[in-house]
Amino acid sequence: MQKVVIITGASRGIGAATARLAAKRGYRVCINYARNHDAANQLAEELTQAGASVMTFAANVADEAAVIDMFNAVNDTLGPITALVNNAGILEKQSKLEFMSAGRFERVFAVNVFGAFFCLREAIKRMAVSNGGAGGAVVNVSSRAAPLGAAFEYVDYAASKAALDAMTVGVSQEVAADNIRVNSVRPGLIDTDIHASGGEPGRIARLAARVPMQRGGQADEVANTILWLLSDEASYVTGSVVDVSGGR
Ligand code: NAP
Repeated sequence: MQKVVIITGASRGIGAATARLAAKRGYRVCINYARNHDAANQLAEELTQAGASVMTFAANVADEAAVIDMFNAVNDTLGPITALVNNAGILEKQSKLEFMSAGRFERVFAVNVFGAFFCLREAIKRMAVSNGGAGGAVVNVSSRAAPLGAAFEYVDYAASKAALDAMTVGVSQEVAADNIRVNSVRPGLIDTDIHASGGEPGRIARLAARVPMQRGGQADEVANTILWLLSDEASYVTGSVVDVSGGR
């Protein structure tokens, strides 16, 4: 059966590394992104040149109608989906909680929590055996910030990722009999643009010595774990939260 995956936030960083690896492993890939058309199109071009079937779809995952449009477009263009990587996630400038606004809480939870819920719900509707689907696998990209708390930086982000972990555990039980597996990865300090979004591009260099492995991780190292969780090699793994963090 043809493998078809939607990867949210796939124009850059961990999502882009996951798209490259998924294409290499024979998936048809939907590269979802928010705004960066150039990065998404460049990646799509690279994967197409390498022989993969890919499409791009600009959709804010926090926009329920846009998410539904994306799932329908993927079905029409690439075929029935068999996998979802809920990777899109944001954080805002480092700050103590006492200085955070209601608008910030809303933006962070809208993307990191509501967006993941919308995508997971649409995936289940289409993949569940009881709905006529063929089953499938989902990986939610959480963060080590969930158990660590991200004090003085972004406790809002950490809390949103803790919500994602709870969702992974609960929903995995709801859909296990429908032949859908749901797991999370929790990356630690990974070398991507997200640290610049938090106002500290050099954050990994500052914190690397606190990692038992003494370094930050690469997006590929997270992508490898995601692809393993999606694969049949992980056929008895569901409801699990896998840390990819060099021990921190
Ligand atoms: P990144 O380099 O900042 O890339 C973010 C990606 O998400 C981009 O493709 C961006 O699209 C997309 N995106 C942002 N908001 C979106 C929205 N509302 N709807 C759809 N797509 C959206 O991030 P990253 O570091 O690769 O992070 C990926 C995931 O890993 C996130 O969930 C993050 O929380 C998690 N994570 C990262 C680290 C780390 O150290 N890097 C650690 C733990 C967890 P555009 O290009 O269009 O902006």
